[in-house]
Amino acid sequence: MMEKYHRPRKRFGQNFLHDQNIIAAIIDAARLNQNDHVLEIGPGQGALTAKILPKVATLDIIEIDRDLAQTLVDRDDERLTVHVGDALRLDWDSILHADNYTLIANLPYNISSQILFKMIEHRNRIACMVLMFQKEVGDRLRAQPGSKEYGALTVMCQLWFDVSRVILVPPSAFRPAPKVISEVLKFERLPHARVEVDDAVFFSRVVKASFAQRRKTLRNCLCAAGFAPAVVDKVADNIDLDVGRRGETLTIQEFSVLAKQLRLGENI
Ligand code: SAM
Repeated sequence: MMEKYHRPRKRFGQNFLHDQNIIAAIIDAARLNQNDHVLEIGPGQGALTAKILPKVATLDIIEIDRDLAQTLVDRDDERLTVHVGDALRLDWDSILHADNYTLIANLPYNISSQILFKMIEHRNRIACMVLMFQKEVGDRLRAQPGSKEYGALTVMCQLWFDVSRVILVPPSAFRPAPKVISEVLKFERLPHARVEVDDAVFFSRVVKASFAQRRKTLRNCLCAAGFAPAVVDKVADNIDLDVGRRGETLTIQEFSVLAKQLRLGENI
């Protein structure tokens, strides 16, 4: 898609995909069709964009690099809308105009967590996501309770999405090659949250608090986050939960029960 030479910009984490097998695996995983609305974040030189555009109804792209964005504007295709800016700052509510978007992104790894939390926030508009991560982050997102990879991001993603690996990606698939192995993951939105959640914001607060200090007990973490010790102890007693455990041992179901009771306890 790009004809002019573009020197990759380190500050924007530019490692461009050139391996056609990996590009094909990403496109296949997204299962695109002519009615689909797609948001691609960080299209870069358009390796994925060029394959997505002919298959879908609309394609919105967000690119922070003005020069690369301009090349995509020059395509002048009525299905394509280019948003120039930082995906973390732009208002996605004004971009996502349907409730079944597919998100595709190969983004700098230092913004993976922030962007994922933003995606989770907009989950009502996002049916499916195919995203590239550093493999270590992929391990975290697919992790099971009790493992060292399991964290707040794992719980929040698995609460709303089925998460599965599409393909591992070697450094040689990119130009320039990064130092790490990457992994493409697919996220499919569940019809309902995986467990009962009365208040998603409160649930998220409890989960984040539980993982905030990894070597501390759940009780210490919750108290450090501002929950009254008496409330924590009473709730633990009511639901028969050992708060001497660490946050990373709790299943999503246990977080659901804990959050529900803490919320009731806080309101007494
Ligand atoms: N998708 C292309 C590919 O696979 O070859 C480019 C991938 S490159 C790893 C990341 C792209 O995201 C770059 O084009 C970069 O300019 C863009 N980018 C970096 N930070 C961004 C941000 N905060 N918002 C939007 N785009 C960003």
